[in-house]
Amino acid sequence: MTNSRRRFDVLVVGAGPAGIAAACCAAEAGVHVGIVDNNSRPGGQIWRGKTRDSHLTEAARWLRKLASSGTEILAPMEVFAQPEAGRLAATSSDGVCELSYKKLILCTGARERFLPFPGWTLPNVMGAGGLQAVVKSGMDIAGKKVVIAGSGPLLLAVAAHLRAHGADIRAIAEQAPWSRLIRFGIALAFRGSKISQAFQLKKQLSRIAFRAGCWVTAAGGNGKVESVALRTEHKTWKEPCDYLACGFHLVPNTELASLLGCELRAGFVRTDNFQESSVSGIYCAGEPTGIGGLELSIAEGQIAGFAAAGQRERAQEYFGERKRQRHFSMALERAFRLRDELRALPSAETIVCRCEDVEFGRLQEQSSWRAAKLQTRCGMGPCQGRICGPAVEFLFGWKAESARPPIFPVAVESLAATACAE
Ligand SMILES: Cc1cc2nc3c(=O)[nH]c(=O)nc-3n(C[C@H](O)[C@H](O)[C@H](O)COP(=O)(O)OP(=O)(O)OC[C@H]3O[C@@H](n4cnc5c(N)ncnc54)[C@H](O)[C@@H]3O)c2cc1C
Repeated sequence: MTNSRRRFDVLVVGAGPAGIAAACCAAEAGVHVGIVDNNSRPGGQIWRGKTRDSHLTEAARWLRKLASSGTEILAPMEVFAQPEAGRLAATSSDGVCELSYKKLILCTGARERFLPFPGWTLPNVMGAGGLQAVVKSGMDIAGKKVVIAGSGPLLLAVAAHLRAHGADIRAIAEQAPWSRLIRFGIALAFRGSKISQAFQLKKQLSRIAFRAGCWVTAAGGNGKVESVALRTEHKTWKEPCDYLACGFHLVPNTELASLLGCELRAGFVRTDNFQESSVSGIYCAGEPTGIGGLELSIAEGQIAGFAAAGQRERAQEYFGERKRQRHFSMALERAFRLRDELRALPSAETIVCRCEDVEFGRLQEQSSWRAAKLQTRCGMGPCQGRICGPAVEFLFGWKAESARPPIFPVAVESLAATACAE
């Protein structure tokens, strides 16, 4: 296993829209920039792979800008630990790489939130974004019956993508009630780009049953999902399907920020006006500071990039755009708040932690996240609580107390190489 070292003036972790914008702006300011991402190509969740949607032009523009910016792209490479302040440890197929920086920008994005319900571990029950990703990678979904359930605008984007690939979308079940969605729609009406995206989605999804105030209560089937039980306040029914694509909005990836000592507020990384976290020299942009969509991620990335490179005046040029986009972020949070009924979905036998097979009933006997980890190993498997952690927080109100290295599973040799280098 090799052990290489790289030094940068500004290092960006995460090459989604926020990270790409941050790297481009820092590079434009004339400093030596590196960007790391655990996928093979830059783009993050939304710009991954080829798309024909309306973001393509903007994606292509930013990806071209990144390629010509002089930024060193380190991908696929995953940051997993901080051996000491100012130095990160990352793994790639070449072994362990030590990344030193003067300024660091964390743009680690978000992931889907999963909530447990009877049958959610059956084959072909997938995250909404997860199913979209495998279809983007070439899986044939043509003619398959798909139910999409959960919460958030991602459900609509996924439905449009799957339909464009020939899927038979049987229903979109959004847990948020119409009253909140209407208020959200009114907030969108004042935002030109968002409302045109919404109209485009409406056209793409014509004649598909969209049900608000509707949620999944169980998935059933013999060896794989064959039907989904859906309910509203007034009725319950079963919908036959080949796939259930299910995600309850997004949760921020804050593990690296926590590991580096950055303060969180209400689950998000706290930053100042220049996107600097509570740790001097460490900036954060995009979804870890608040779930707000593409435009907010880009605006925050631009501010962080210029600020980290010492050009605070240029950073200030994007304050107005960030402020406008933050209104959308707040509207998202209000609209897609999870309803209390979802806490009653799991039965005692429902598995909550898939890595360690921990059932809901066993967690009910515990008093805290720490006790649950000690007594049941909940959150201690390969995903390290990324999937069950947000579910446990919603179900029981227990928060993970700290992030421990390695934040991603790594080979023992990688850990040893990191230790030897210290
Ligand atoms: C599964 C999913 C699908 C989505 N699909 C859509 C969609 O179709 N349309 C839409 O409008 N919005 C979609 N979104 C929302 C969209 O991602 C955001 O609105 C926005 O683009 C986020 O940009 P970002 O740069 O903050 O984060 P991201 O785009 O998430 O980029 C973060 C990047 O950091 C990488 N990373 C994280 N930690 C590390 C580490 N330790 N080491 C190395 N790399 C790391 C991640 O792999 C990722 O590539 C989706 C979100 C998710 C979670």
